[in-house]
Formats: sequence, structure tokens, C-alpha cells
Amino acid sequence: MADAHNGSPTTFAPHRLSKSKYLSGLQCHKRLYLEIHQPALATPPDASTQAILDMGTEIGILAQQRFRGGVLVKSGFRQREAAIAETAALLQDPKIPAIFEGAFEYDGVLVRVDIIERVQIGEGGSSSWRLIEVKSSTRVKDIHLDDLSIQSYVVLGAGLRLDATCLMHIDTGYLYQNGEVDLQALFSIEDVSEAVTDRRGSVPERLAAMKVLLLESQAPKIEPDQHCHTPYECPFWAHCTKEKPKRWIYHLPGKKEIVGQLVRRGIMTIDDIPDDTRLSDVQRKVKDNIEWVSPELGRILRSLNYPIHHLDAETVMLALPRFPSTRPYQSLPVQWSNHIELESGEVVHQEFLHGEASDPRKRWVEALIESLGETGNIVVYSAYEESLICQLAETFPEFKSAFKAIVKRLWDLLPIIKNHYYHPAFNGSYSIKSVLPAVVPSLGYDDLAIQAGGQADGGIATRVERESRESGT
Ligand code: SF4
Repeated sequence: MADAHNGSPTTFAPHRLSKSKYLSGLQCHKRLYLEIHQPALATPPDASTQAILDMGTEIGILAQQRFRGGVLVKSGFRQREAAIAETAALLQDPKIPAIFEGAFEYDGVLVRVDIIERVQIGEGGSSSWRLIEVKSSTRVKDIHLDDLSIQSYVVLGAGLRLDATCLMHIDTGYLYQNGEVDLQALFSIEDVSEAVTDRRGSVPERLAAMKVLLLESQAPKIEPDQHCHTPYECPFWAHCTKEKPKRWIYHLPGKKEIVGQLVRRGIMTIDDIPDDTRLSDVQRKVKDNIEWVSPELGRILRSLNYPIHHLDAETVMLALPRFPSTRPYQSLPVQWSNHIELESGEVVHQEFLHGEASDPRKRWVEALIESLGETGNIVVYSAYEESLICQLAETFPEFKSAFKAIVKRLWDLLPIIKNHYYHPAFNGSYSIKSVLPAVVPSLGYDDLAIQAGGQADGGIATRVERESRESGT
């Protein structure tokens, strides 16, 4: 990076890190560098990402209620010194059983710990503690162990005695009935001390490498690839890929090992892939880059029975169950759209959107059964609608025979497209977002009333289910 005044390289003073910066650095040194020195290059989170972050905050606050008498460190995230002093005072008070958002600093890293619980008060008043990180996920993931390894490294370095390091996450086995949510059942606390101790050993070395790179005058040269998407989508993806060619080799679908092999051979675009390279069917179609129609496609499409219902259903998945007999993250249907194509060519649109905070399921089901009637195929894109209907049949046995009849009429367009049609505009993706604008150029996915789960539900949806559906996997 050049200095704005004299054009000479800028050098940076040592920078204090946080837990999230450390985790960014584990994903990619360039990401860490840009977050610290050029944060404006990041793409801001979209509405659904923000909703997931907000849901995490809501779950974090709820988790605190499980620790009676716990005290929140009120100083904000920018009030470093005040937060550390406030935490130190609370640590000294043996009457306080737990501290929320406690601030600790060591080795140039500041962390705010979700929950630190006093386990024992020994002779002389010194306490031992249990460090607990709260996540809205449903199981322990690798990234959580890294998260806890940096937190425990700092907390131990700051002089606390830790008896255990734990992850508190949502237990999807919890069946909510009514009234108050049972916090003991909603959350599961897993002791992951051993796995965290293993990882903590590598923290000093990793931190040292991060501190050195942050003093450099330029971001490290790191090529974007698979690491940009795991464990999180990197917000600098648009920046790092802005000069890549349209047919960049990374856009080759399927297993990315082949991409790595090709890049090592200096092949940077799909068009440059040598003809003798072993590719999957889809990869070959992407390389050939021409429209392809199977000879059977016409016959298959003509087998559909009118009236043809084009159905799309939307659900929300709430971490915190609100309706009796539901579990955390259970799919709750809130919306459907049915375009009814008549034999005359006329198309009639019917739709349902549950606009209240009440349980949407029964009204959703009743309206859908009426809209679908008893005749004609029901075209869907993926097996999602079928699995949803089967799940609802368990909840509403009175509709079981209607559901059975609906399932018999379902017709999944996704495998038909996969096996019988390809268009260069798919770019190797059978996601509805890629297929729709290619097949019907006048109608892009962005034109539809429902574009993503996160918008259909006011934001509280997990994208995992929706994305796997959209990608046709
Ligand atoms: S997009 Fe990829 S290469 Fe660029 S900063 Fe992010 S993780 Fe690193």
C-alpha cells in the first residue's frame, strides 16, 4: 500500500487483535489483512446474513438466563479499558456466579467471553471457572474449537484458572409444548476441553504470524479458491475476484480437486482446459459451452397432465420454537405460490402468505389443498416440497389421504433438467437462480416475489436448507 502523501510504502504499528480477527486470520491471512487495513473493500452482509447474526445475538441473550445471578459487563465493545476493569471487579466478587461478556486481554488479543461461570471458590478466595461459548448452531464444529482455543488462551494468559471449556448450543431434540421455553432442554452444554487444549498449543505461533503480516505494507498475495467459502463466506470475495475472466477456471462445477490440478498446470480459464482432461458430464457441458437438448425432453414434457400446477413453498426455521409440538429449527411452512397452467395456455396465479405471528401450518395446509384441487401434475423444483408435505402429514393425520394424493401428482423438474437440457448460461449450475433466467430470459429469479428464504420469513431462516435446494444438490 502506498502512502497517500509521498508514495512510499506505509508501515503499520502493531495492531491489537480480537477473537473474530484471529478466526479471520485462520481462514485467510489476506482476509485478516484487509479487515484491519482496508475494511471498506468488504461487501456488507445481505439481509439474510444479518438476520442470522441477529438470531445469534438473540440466542446469546437467552442463554444468559440459564445462569441465575450472572452479571453482564455493561461497557461496550469499544470501551476496552472500562470493560476490562469492570470484568476484573466482578471476578473479585465471590457472590457473583457468572459473568456475561467479560473482557480479557493477553498477548495483544482482546476477547469478550459469552459466559464465564464460577465453579469453585478455593482457599484464599481464588476461584476456578468454566468458560462457555454460546452458538445458535446445533452441534460442535471445528471452527468452534478454534474460537474456544483463542478465548481460553487469552483467559488463561490473563491469570484465570479454567476447569473446563464448553460449547453451549441448540439441542434439536427439544420438543416445545407450551408456555415458557425450557432453557435446560433447549440448550446443550458440551465440555470440549480436551479438543480445545490440543488446539491451544498452536495459538502463539499462529498469532505471531498474523502480527507479522499485519506490519507489511501490502496484503499477502493469496489466490481466491475454496478456502474463501469455509468456514464462512469471505466478504472480500467480490474484491479478490473482480479481475478474473468470465470463464475463470474456478467456475468449473463439481469437485474442486480437478480445478486445483488444472491451476497447477497454469490453466486459468475453462476454455483452456485440454480436450483430453477427464471431466464429469456436467463439467464437459460447461467446457463445450453449447446448448444441448436430449431427444427425449419433448416426450417427457408432453407427458404432463393439465392443469399443470407450478408450486413453490417457503418455510422458516426458528432456533427458538414458538408453537406447541415443534422443535428448534423445524421447518414451518409460511408461504406457497401456485401458477396453474391450463390446457388453453392461460395461467392463473394463486398464493398464500401467513402474515401473522401465529402457527402458520394448518392454514397453509388447508389453503394449499384447496388450490391444488384433485387433478393435474404438480411441478416442483427439487424434492423439498415432498419432504415438507410428508413431515406435515405426521403433524396433521386428518389430511393424510389428501397429502398422499398430492404426493402422487408431484413432478420434480430438477432431475429432468439435469438429465435432458443444458444452456451455457447455466454456467454448470442447476440452481433455479441460474436455470430460470436462462430458460425464460424475461423472468429472472430476482423478479420473483420470493427470492430467498431469508426474505420470505422476515429474515429468520437458516440458509443451509434453502441453498442446498437452490443449488439442486
Ligand atoms: S476472498 Fe479469499 S483470498 Fe480473498 S481475502 Fe477472502 S478468503 Fe482471502
